[in-house]
Amino acid sequence: MNLNTFQFLLKYTVAKSSAFQAYLDGIRNQALSLEELNELNWSRTKSLLNYAYKNVPYYQRKYKSVGLHPNDISSEKVYYQVPVLTKEEIAENYELLISRLVSHKTVKDITTGGSTGVPLRVGRNKNVVREAQKWRIQSWWGINPTDNIATAYRPLPYSNFDKLAMRAIYYPQKAVKLDATNITSENIRSFVMQMARIRPKMIHGYVGAIDAVADYIIKHKIEVPAPKTVWLTASPITGIQESKISSAFNAPVCDQYGCSEVYFISAECPKKEGLHVLSDVKKVEFIDKNNNGIGKLIVTDLEDYAFPLIRYMNGDESSFKDHKCSCGMNLPLMNKVKGRTTDNLEIGGDVVISGEYLTTIFDDYVDSVSRFQVIQKSRAEITIKVVPKKQEGLEDVVSNVKNTLKAKSKGLADITVEVVNRIPDVKGKMKFIIKDF
Ligand SMILES: [Zn+2]
Repeated sequence: MNLNTFQFLLKYTVAKSSAFQAYLDGIRNQALSLEELNELNWSRTKSLLNYAYKNVPYYQRKYKSVGLHPNDISSEKVYYQVPVLTKEEIAENYELLISRLVSHKTVKDITTGGSTGVPLRVGRNKNVVREAQKWRIQSWWGINPTDNIATAYRPLPYSNFDKLAMRAIYYPQKAVKLDATNITSENIRSFVMQMARIRPKMIHGYVGAIDAVADYIIKHKIEVPAPKTVWLTASPITGIQESKISSAFNAPVCDQYGCSEVYFISAECPKKEGLHVLSDVKKVEFIDKNNNGIGKLIVTDLEDYAFPLIRYMNGDESSFKDHKCSCGMNLPLMNKVKGRTTDNLEIGGDVVISGEYLTTIFDDYVDSVSRFQVIQKSRAEITIKVVPKKQEGLEDVVSNVKNTLKAKSKGLADITVEVVNRIPDVKGKMKFIIKDF
């Protein structure tokens, strides 16, 4: 730990008393053996279950109704019988999910629109230092919390006082921001110029916004000082986006996965052999696996006792990798979460084209296409919008993709490809699959 990080953690501890401890815990736990990590994960799971059964009215009622007592959960095998928690249950039982032992002041609400379109309110314990996971992931890439940074996401509603306090805590960090909800050429130009000045170690933001910056850099042949990584979040990344962004910024991409309900779940280390699950603070499972081994993601937030989320099904799908990362850490590896469950296109007659597959349709044409979007206009009408990188060979690419999709839909869908100049973001997030019917 360098001096800046040490001072940063001390200052942060004034705001959140367990900041220092949370950071040190993370660094210690990622060095554990696989066996020790599994043991830690399991003991934390059991203690959360016991706590929820005793102190959280909703879990007490739910587990009693199926005849389940935490004492019966003697092994992980039995744990899989603990019922999953759905978004609908949270929406209907918000108050009952708050622990009797905490004051409502401890609970901060977050809302998430998500793919269901129904805003969901979830309570989160304010005192949990979830940021420590961010600092830990940065450390994998050789980045300290106070290093200079360029960000592109939605502006957060901080008060001026909070902003000042943050600047004092993060001193001597220099930060430049791009408002991902207001992406114009002028804003991107100024962002890129400021980046050249502060030379950020990390660029962090929504895929859609960073993608637009990458387009700008490539179009204007600008050379930006290479950061250590471009950390992308909040959307599935297509292969073509990743390779374009990486070459525009001359730096590897760190694909990080999480959701607004439980924040950080997994992220890539520089070896990029998969996403390391932060298994000391999150329990991740995949259930109802399909023929390809892809299952529904079930996550338990092992740190939050105020509003416990136990076996929460967030709507995403992926799978574990079965090898250990060559970086030496034993935090398990999972595959990228590419499409969201609800992004699958149901064509009818049992034909479903998976969202995960759709993210890959241009992977072989990275040099020809810079962005694309899939719009389902009716069950049997699919339009693909494509922003070309170069005109040469484009016709072949378009016709190949058209034919492949036609075959995938077993001939049931009409596939149209529209070549366009740009695809607008929705609030800075690139909406990759749109259902418009
Ligand atoms: Zn690794």
